[in-house]
Amino acid sequence: MKNKNILISGAGVAGLTLAYWLKRFGFCPTLVEKYPTLRSGGYKIDLRGVALEILKRMGIYLQIVEQRTAIRQAICVDKGGRRVAEMSADLCGTRLEGVDLEIMRGNLCVIMREALHDIEYLFGDSIVNLSESAEGVRVEFEKAAPRTFDLVIGADGLHSSVRRLAFGEELNFSKEFGVCVSVFSIPNFLGLKAAEIEYHSPRRFVNVYCDRLDASAKAALAFSVDSPFCSRDPREQKRLIERVFESSGWEMPRILSAMNEAPDFFFDTMAQIHMPRWSTGRVVLVGDAAYSATPMSGQGTSVAIAGAYVLAGELAEAHGDYALAYGGYEKLMRPFVKQNQALAAMSARIMKKGRYGEWVHKLASTLPSTVLHYFKNLAVKRTTKAANALSLKNYSVG
Ligand SMILES: Cc1cc2nc3c(=O)[nH]c(=O)nc-3n(C[C@H](O)[C@H](O)[C@H](O)COP(=O)(O)OP(=O)(O)OC[C@H]3O[C@@H](n4cnc5c(N)ncnc54)[C@H](O)[C@@H]3O)c2cc1C
Repeated sequence: MKNKNILISGAGVAGLTLAYWLKRFGFCPTLVEKYPTLRSGGYKIDLRGVALEILKRMGIYLQIVEQRTAIRQAICVDKGGRRVAEMSADLCGTRLEGVDLEIMRGNLCVIMREALHDIEYLFGDSIVNLSESAEGVRVEFEKAAPRTFDLVIGADGLHSSVRRLAFGEELNFSKEFGVCVSVFSIPNFLGLKAAEIEYHSPRRFVNVYCDRLDASAKAALAFSVDSPFCSRDPREQKRLIERVFESSGWEMPRILSAMNEAPDFFFDTMAQIHMPRWSTGRVVLVGDAAYSATPMSGQGTSVAIAGAYVLAGELAEAHGDYALAYGGYEKLMRPFVKQNQALAAMSARIMKKGRYGEWVHKLASTLPSTVLHYFKNLAVKRTTKAANALSLKNYSVG
């Protein structure tokens, strides 16, 4: 096999899936992760369609089923806390009942890492320079000594540094939706048991949930902004959230005060990545780094799993001929990515300023629940179709 030594940047869902399949196909992957340990915190994510089949082929599907969230019921409330709708958590999360799965992101990463067994990890480090030659890619790290790898794969998320080093600045590829997202832990003062609460108001969305494995609850906030918000300073991010939600009603005063105590405050803007090519020479991107779909699509994790499987499989089928493999990867993945990225467009329109979003919210709070369920079921059908829009090859194990 040619080009066996492969460096993967990022030990998230895409990086771990890729390392698993590369190893199984006879390659020798090394993972470099900027955090000192595997990032095991996080929010709940959905798994659907072809990603479920890949997880079965990895032998970890049953473990994921066992550790899926226990959240079964979703309650929508209004400004005064009055229940305006109730539905199953699956329907609310656009999941196909009894088929699709929801799991905390960190638990999925731990399961994936255990399935990987022994590979080389460089935790607490990051790539700072890449230079390609006929022999391979010379990689300089922030901490470790420089090394040469046959191939380098960027699985380092929305703000990928491999993408910046090999392809150029993020703003060339990023399509901002003008929507910010924040997730943080709060005390379970709402007494949630296997339930989640959603509170919608024009341009603002709040979801509070508590999984059985957690002692505390999590609050997830999304809101639209009129002008781009770029600050990476958590204090400024928190001040923005306070301004946006201060007169929102419901339980927001308590949630905002808990936000300031939260040990795991997360904030980002929702952006998709659109690139004319995902590879250059020996370097290629996978997952959010190449084609982030945003949390509004609900498909970021499943698309990352599919992309990692296809990339590893194409490399195996091409016996390490990276030019051939990267071409095959793009050809198979492009239509699938396009369909899944399109899922975010409707949610983005609802979140944006203007009549449309206000109208949808008014309608949702006055409609009988059967009509609401009808529209939710339509969304489930559309998402299921996109999640299955890829024929999985059976790559032979080397
Ligand atoms: C609030 C929220 C809710 C979400 N909900 C859903 C959902 O319901 N369904 C869904 O499918 N998806 C959801 N997603 C999106 C989902 O988490 C990602 O799309 C998916 O996990 C893709 O993973 P990834 O491995 O490509 O990137 P990431 O999960 O971002 O992983 C990237 C990894 O690279 C590491 N890294 C970053 N920079 C460097 C560097 N310079 N050097 C080394 N390592 C680096 C990071 O620490 C991280 O471990 C949500 C995301 C958020 C933020």
